[in-house]
Amino acid sequence: MPKSKITSKNSSTHQPVGKLPEDQIKANFTEMHEPLTTSQAEIEASRCYFCYDAPCITACPTGIDIPEFIKRIQTGNLKGSARKILEQNIMGGMCARVCPTEVLCEGACVRNTHEDKPVVIGLLQRYATEKVIEKKEPLFERATPTDKKIAVIGAGPAGLSCAHRLALFGHNVTVFDKNKKAGGLNEHGIAAYKALHDIAQKEVDYILDIGGIKIKPEVQFGVDFTLNELSDDYDAVFIAIGLSGVNPYKIEGEEVDGVIDATRYIHNLRQAELMSDLPVGDNIVVIGGGMTAIDIAVQSKKLGAPEVTIAYRRDEARMKASQHEQHYAQTNDVKLRFCSSPKRVLSKDGQVTGIEFDITRVALDGKVSKTGNTYQLEADVIFKAIGQTLPDEQLGDSTSGLKIENGRLAVNDERKTSLDNVWAGGDCVSGGEDLTVSAVQDGKLAAESIHRYLQTS
Ligand SMILES: Cc1cc2nc3c(=O)[nH]c(=O)nc-3n(C[C@H](O)[C@H](O)[C@H](O)COP(=O)(O)OP(=O)(O)OC[C@H]3O[C@@H](n4cnc5c(N)ncnc54)[C@H](O)[C@@H]3O)c2cc1C
Ligand code: SF4
Repeated sequence: MPKSKITSKNSSTHQPVGKLPEDQIKANFTEMHEPLTTSQAEIEASRCYFCYDAPCITACPTGIDIPEFIKRIQTGNLKGSARKILEQNIMGGMCARVCPTEVLCEGACVRNTHEDKPVVIGLLQRYATEKVIEKKEPLFERATPTDKKIAVIGAGPAGLSCAHRLALFGHNVTVFDKNKKAGGLNEHGIAAYKALHDIAQKEVDYILDIGGIKIKPEVQFGVDFTLNELSDDYDAVFIAIGLSGVNPYKIEGEEVDGVIDATRYIHNLRQAELMSDLPVGDNIVVIGGGMTAIDIAVQSKKLGAPEVTIAYRRDEARMKASQHEQHYAQTNDVKLRFCSSPKRVLSKDGQVTGIEFDITRVALDGKVSKTGNTYQLEADVIFKAIGQTLPDEQLGDSTSGLKIENGRLAVNDERKTSLDNVWAGGDCVSGGEDLTVSAVQDGKLAAESIHRYLQTS
């Protein structure tokens, strides 16, 4: 088997060598959960108690009326069911696949007990929305067009959700994005095995079908246009640029080939024509404890990496990735090591050979301290999956006017920024959950607030 070489961003000696043939990789990247058949969906729908004050609704960041959409599945009204979902969450198709339902709606389901199991709300939501999105069934009608113009910066979940709701109100929306393809991290970040069959682009097409939304690709905020220019030309602006910076945390000795930012690799993976062309390590160590760490580790295994270990500096209970995700990684043969804080990268001739960790202890208040003991792991690839940031340059000229809080944009409950005609939402704002579903909700709330503002301005 050929040994792959993975280079750091500073190197020009990129020599992609895959581990497995394409058909084997395709077989590995199949559905995480098989979609429900009609009879399975009907049986599952009949398990719902249609609770009064249903806790699953409260647990859904977009407030979907879950018992009502399930009831409509039970009565065979699939379009009505999809409408119930999409009227609250226009990305209900993608969210059905990527939401951590085990800690949201299904976590809150009254049937989620030791003796029973929750209603599989995510799979039912997928069942209800799949055909509607696939066939582009129009479920919503745009109001009579108004003369109002809104600029949306960023065509990710927050930007597209805001654009759709504004278009529904009849307003005219232009969405600017630095990338060629719309969809944000749905297209460039979410694990490939969660977003099969081009669902991200199908959902973008479904959203744009409402009319009144223009996408301007490959234009960068702060480089090709400024906030002042948009404020002059548009009645309102919504900023939804996500987080494109990487946490500046540096590991001693990391400037060698083979130490890679996980999101950069995932971006290439999602856009790869042939996944078998991607370089894959033999001995991969992933640093981090969130969804990105799990995703890069599991996808590395599916690409054929023999050894993959996630190292996290706190204990299991404090890992941001849920128990369910940790379990999924383990069932894909990924090893998890806790209380391991990276100390230094080991290398030879400019290529990573391993990593040394400080063994930590975690106090009851969550404070991490070093025990004084260390250990080493061999590695030919180290993925850094330690969080993303909002760099100043991503905001262009606007940093002076916009209030920043904890390194992100400060917004109020309606997702309004400190500037009069500017709203923001999704990962780029402070206080969010950094989930697709929360970004969709931010876009929706901002659009409703912008609509109220436009009626009085
Ligand atoms: C690897 C990874 C895996 C994830 N997996 C999950 C998951 O399984 N489930 C889940 O719920 N969440 C997941 N998330 C989180 C989720 O993807 C985000 O919370 C969500 O995409 C945020 O949406 P957004 O619209 O705020 O930003 P983004 O999706 O990042 O979209 C921002 C858009 O703005 C554009 N943009 C950025 N800067 C500029 C600029 N200067 N000018 C013009 N355009 C710009 C970008 O091109 C992009 O299209 C994951 C995140 C990552 C990184
Ligand atoms: S909590 Fe569970 S049983 Fe109750 S309405 Fe929601 S899905 Fe149905």
